[in-house]
Amino acid sequence: MLTDNLGRTVSYLRLSVTDRCNLRCVYCMTHDFKFIPHPRILRYEEMHRLIDIAAGLGISKLRLTGGEPFARKGFPDFVAKILTRHPELDLRITTNGTLVEPHLEKLAAIGVKRLNISLDTLDANKYKEITGFDQLDKVLRTIKSSIEAGIQVKINAVAMKGVNDSELKDFLDLATKYPIDMRFIEFMPMGEDTRWNSNVFWSAKDILEQSRSYKNLIPVAETAGNKGPARIYDIDGGKGRLGLISPVSSHFCGTCNRLRITAEGKLRTCLFSDKVYNLRGILRNPKLGDEQILEVLRRSTVNKPLGYRLLENKEKNHGVCDTQMSAIGG
Ligand code: SAM
Ligand code: SF4
Repeated sequence: MLTDNLGRTVSYLRLSVTDRCNLRCVYCMTHDFKFIPHPRILRYEEMHRLIDIAAGLGISKLRLTGGEPFARKGFPDFVAKILTRHPELDLRITTNGTLVEPHLEKLAAIGVKRLNISLDTLDANKYKEITGFDQLDKVLRTIKSSIEAGIQVKINAVAMKGVNDSELKDFLDLATKYPIDMRFIEFMPMGEDTRWNSNVFWSAKDILEQSRSYKNLIPVAETAGNKGPARIYDIDGGKGRLGLISPVSSHFCGTCNRLRITAEGKLRTCLFSDKVYNLRGILRNPKLGDEQILEVLRRSTVNKPLGYRLLENKEKNHGVCDTQMSAIGG
């Protein structure tokens, strides 16, 4: 088991399979972003080795993310192999939903049960402004087809005042009509060149208050099936639910159970901390073995920080960390 000196147990790994993406969301990736050179990106075999080790240490939930995971060649086969090796893993994928359609049948067949699809607006022009591309139709189709294929869908929208606050009712109507979790995530100040500022920040508390003027919301009690950073509400008379994730206004560091590994094999024990542990160096050193990787995972977890403290000390006009979200995976 992986535990830290604050008594937190780590059971959840977020693995980024690529830092590349077919979109350029304004809050996530700057246009001059320098991608990691290919030789530094972990090969799938190296990722499998890390997953095997992590599973042996009690990791029971694995999220594959990116950049855009479906932008990496061979991604569906990689997922299939993980599920064959570790059928017990609770495997989830976070995607922008633009490249999923051709793979949906296969994903359902190999046992993918959950997709998180990022979508910040239901307006085609706005979608293009935010992401740089005209892909809204594709994402909406993917959401519907995923539900039809029996895959559970959560929609993640980054909450931005002046951008998508005017669409709150439309999003709630979507979650009333379809069995989806519609989740709003507070905009986080990430990266050197962050677009974050207090005018655009739309807090979970405000979203909840505004949502209540449109729908009757019933809080879902925290149970084994609903344990995580999102506060969940049933929508009265609806098929889906509302979820609110508030990493900025009300942190959940005390119960954080996650580790992140970037596409180049950097282990991050906290989203907001740039302190990294280089696993690629160990993976590629023939003199070092699994025992050394295990040791780094154990030692780094012990000192897992409390991210909200970093957020409190953040410099003005600078992100809480230097790394932008596309290179971490969310
Ligand atoms: N490309 C995939 C996608 O968009 O879902 C996976 C990677 S993306 C980095 C993962 C999540 O991080 C997305 O839901 C995205 O909206 C979110 N994200 C990116 N930058 C963010 C920011 N500054 N604040 C809050 N969420 C952010
Ligand atoms: Fe790409 Fe996802 Fe970042 Fe948008 S949020 S630029 S889709 S990695």
